[in-house]
Amino acid sequence: MKIICEYCKNSIDTSKDNKCPNCLASYSDNKMFKEGLEELKKQKDQEYRARELDIEKQKIQNEQVKSILETTKKIFGFQKYIIFIPILFFLLIFFEIIFSIFNSHKDYPKRFTTTTMPNITTTTEKKVAVGLNEFGETSKYKVKIDKTLNIDKIYGVISPSEGKKYKAFHLIVENKTESTLILNAKINCIVDDFVQKESNYHSKYPPLPFKIDSLLKAEGYVIFEVPINAKKYDIKYGDYITIHIDD
Ligand SMILES: [Zn+2]
Repeated sequence: MKIICEYCKNSIDTSKDNKCPNCLASYSDNKMFKEGLEELKKQKDQEYRARELDIEKQKIQNEQVKSILETTKKIFGFQKYIIFIPILFFLLIFFEIIFSIFNSHKDYPKRFTTTTMPNITTTTEKKVAVGLNEFGETSKYKVKIDKTLNIDKIYGVISPSEGKKYKAFHLIVENKTESTLILNAKINCIVDDFVQKESNYHSKYPPLPFKIDSLLKAEGYVIFEVPINAKKYDIKYGDYITIHIDD
């Protein structure tokens, strides 16, 4: 520390001199020296407190890391058990089958069918194929084609593509249910295994409505562009009904 001698104003370096090198006076009561010592003490205290705070922070961080590690360990431990669940499940089935075979030949098929085969056939519809003027039926509706038409030009102006003709089918759909039936079944026309392109509806041949109320029926046309020499048509109404038409 550098101070000024209170007696001769000479500069004293306290790290080298133990009294004023000029007038040899002691500086133990020097105001600057005391203030300097006080300042040094304060700085040391602050450093000490800062170090303590650092240590405290480090401790908290360590705790956090430890807790994260522990949680991760727990999760991984749990996952380890999850992997064992399907293995256990398969082992159980395996032993069940082995046990059944060894135990009783009569018992085995019964146990096997009752435990592993759920009944899924109750709600599926049957596929139906019918001809002209015949109703195809699902649990919800009946549908038939009662006539077909050849159309030269849609709206009287739009001609079919090269080698094609327009074929219109008149459909009748009956709602068998006690609620409104939405007619969202896709209608496909298949000629020689190819799906044909549906054409815009003609004002003279209106399409089916979008819905039919409970137990009512509706009619409408569906028009396809088909090969000019086509004679056989399979109209697929929804997933279950196929109507075979011969010209
Ligand atoms: Zn002095």
